Amino acid sequence: DPALRLSMRLIPYSQELWLLVARDVSKLMHLEQVRRDFVANVSHELRTPLTVVHGYLDMLDPSDQPEWAPILEEMRRQSQRMTQLVEDLLTLSRLEAQDTVSDESVGMASMLATLRREAEALSQGRHTVAVQDRAAVDLWGSTRELHSAFSNLVANAVRYTPAGGSITIGFAQQGEEVALSVEDTGYGIPAAHLPRITERFYRVSTSRSRELGGTGLGLAIVKHVLQLHQARLEIESEVGRGSIFTCIFPADRAHPRDGTGSGAIR
Ligand code: ADP
Repeated sequence: DPALRLSMRLIPYSQELWLLVARDVSKLMHLEQVRRDFVANVSHELRTPLTVVHGYLDMLDPSDQPEWAPILEEMRRQSQRMTQLVEDLLTLSRLEAQDTVSDESVGMASMLATLRREAEALSQGRHTVAVQDRAAVDLWGSTRELHSAFSNLVANAVRYTPAGGSITIGFAQQGEEVALSVEDTGYGIPAAHLPRITERFYRVSTSRSRELGGTGLGLAIVKHVLQLHQARLEIESEVGRGSIFTCIFPADRAHPRDGTGSGAIR
């Protein structure tokens, strides 16, 4: 049966014998596929109406009805949030449907410059932003997906760090491996929350996260992108002191930086 999916486990039974336990997970996988398609379809269908609402809101001018100004502002803010949520859901469905990524040379000098610009734009001068580029390598992978992962970490660092704090984006060799880190001096995350923090919609403090405008999908996106690159995410955090999110790539994902930038295919 081509639709049959088995999950198999080998368990030691005695000195000479092993048990092979096979479980039929076809139905589970089918349901998972249905869930994924459903989320992707709903998100896609929401895109058009949202664009229309957004467009008309932008056309409204409250100058002759000044009492409408705050209401319009709030409607714009909320429709912006909904748009971001839909975009994040679509990104996540796209990532879940993939089991490999493109393998192009990702120019890290320009990636770091882009991340710095994004951090500065989000911070609007409220934080100190620094970049430490200490690895003379570029990565093999998908520029688009890696950028979406890294920029989620940068956005979080800005979002969860009060004014006056600092954000440091680092890129460095770590033994054989290569690490991109985003460090902040923000609120930090209580240790009890760390194991679940990359789950979809998981948030430490719902009220603060809502108020600050996140979608709850950022770290789920990061986790998926890293998995597709055989990389892992490490999180160190201390409440009241800040957090360090580090994306660690295996040695074979890196190659010497030769100045050609991105575009080359492995
Ligand atoms: P959100 O869109 O809510 O930021 P994420 O998946 O990106 O969703 O993050 C999940 C939760 O992890 C956030 O709601 C926040 O509570 C916590 N978090 C993420 N990054 C940081 C950070 N740099 N500092 C403190 N808390 C963070």
